Amino acid sequence: MLIFRQLFDPTSSTYTYLLADSDTRHAVLIDPVFEQVRRDGALIEELGLELCTTLDTHVHADHVTGSWALKQRFGCKIALSEVSGAEGADRYLKDGDTVEFGARHLNILSTPGHTDGCVTYVLDDRSKAFTGDCLLIRGSGRTDFQQGSPELMFRSVHDKIFCLPADCLLYPGHDYRGLTVTSVAEEREFNPRLGGKLSVSDFAGYMHNLGLPHPKQIDVAVPANLKCGQPADGALPGDQPDWAPLSYSFAGIWEIQPQALNEIRDKVQIVDVRGKDEFDGPMGHIPGAKLIPLDKLAERSSKLAKDKPIVAVCRAGGRSAQATVILKREGFTELANMTGGMLLWRAQHLDVVGGEG
Ligand code: FE
Repeated sequence: MLIFRQLFDPTSSTYTYLLADSDTRHAVLIDPVFEQVRRDGALIEELGLELCTTLDTHVHADHVTGSWALKQRFGCKIALSEVSGAEGADRYLKDGDTVEFGARHLNILSTPGHTDGCVTYVLDDRSKAFTGDCLLIRGSGRTDFQQGSPELMFRSVHDKIFCLPADCLLYPGHDYRGLTVTSVAEEREFNPRLGGKLSVSDFAGYMHNLGLPHPKQIDVAVPANLKCGQPADGALPGDQPDWAPLSYSFAGIWEIQPQALNEIRDKVQIVDVRGKDEFDGPMGHIPGAKLIPLDKLAERSSKLAKDKPIVAVCRAGGRSAQATVILKREGFTELANMTGGMLLWRAQHLDVVGGEG
């Protein structure tokens, strides 16, 4: 079975697509965004996938690709078009090539026009295609910079993408209105630039008069993307906290395992956000934990030190996750949720004050 996720970067309105084979767990990621590598990495780990290859549809001008950063983290391969001009990829693709993940694969269709190196990735059964910035939902990528050509784009759309099966779903590289998916049949009929009876000269006339502003990120994004997303300073996105071995969840929460918390108990403030009856009840509590019920946390947060990390704890790890959100809002920065709460703490036979055997 195919595992499929569509992910969104709100800053650049970019879609990233995760595809995996549910049997082998091998995965590919199309058009990852540098600033979202931590999020995407968390999802890949939570789903138990092995990221084999990152794929870019082209050298982007509006965001930096996450390919290089993902390779540093997962050791995966980087692939994109051989015409892209990018250095540092492990594989350079051309029209007709395939990229495998487990028993599934993607076929490469060369679809230039937005840039020379634009490709569309077509799923093996032709049920889905990832068109990058060539065909967008009721629109198209722009053709006014980076080797853009309305004539080439028109041919790519009509001779390649519109020749896919009518019910093939099309997933674009961006959407600025929050639309997520379209189909070949729909775009053939309703695309206002390229569909219906519109000709190549109609399209060129349209594209020459878009009057779009220059992309804000182009001077940073293109040089970095010509190195597959390796920034000039070689730094990875985001900061990994160094006060404890934390992991980042796809839910957006920093997590610490009970055993790891036990080892640094004296160096952190443990805040138990359950009710007083639970704190003193049969589950007991962690030695040194301070009781602040979740509904009092915001008003009593001034009692907590700002210069000592805080780990929030509850029964099962749910309310305490929300506690980290509340404390972040109150200006605390070194925060983590204890995974699994007192249930997991007790299951691992760690020290408890009070409670029942
Ligand atoms: Fe683009």
